[in-house]
Amino acid sequence: MPRYDFRCRSCGATFELNRPMARANDPATCPEGHPDTVKLLSTVAVTGTGASAPAPAGGGGGGGCCGGGCCG
Ligand SMILES: [Zn+2]
Repeated sequence: MPRYDFRCRSCGATFELNRPMARANDPATCPEGHPDTVKLLSTVAVTGTGASAPAPAGGGGGGGCCGGGCCG
C-alpha cells in the first residue's frame, strides 16, 4: 500500500498515511486534529512499476592518453 506524506497548514506538522491509491486524494486530518492539510509529493514505493534510471552515457571522448596518439 503506498504511503503518502501530508503537512498540516495549521501547525506545520508532517505526517504519513498508508492508504489505498483509490483514496489518495481523500482529505487527511492532522494528528493534532487540524483538517487543513496538504498532500506532499514523495517517492512512493509501488511494486509493479519498473522505473529504471537511464544508463550513464559511456564511450570514448577527446583528450586523454589514448586519444592523442601517445599510446602508440
Ligand atoms: Zn495540525
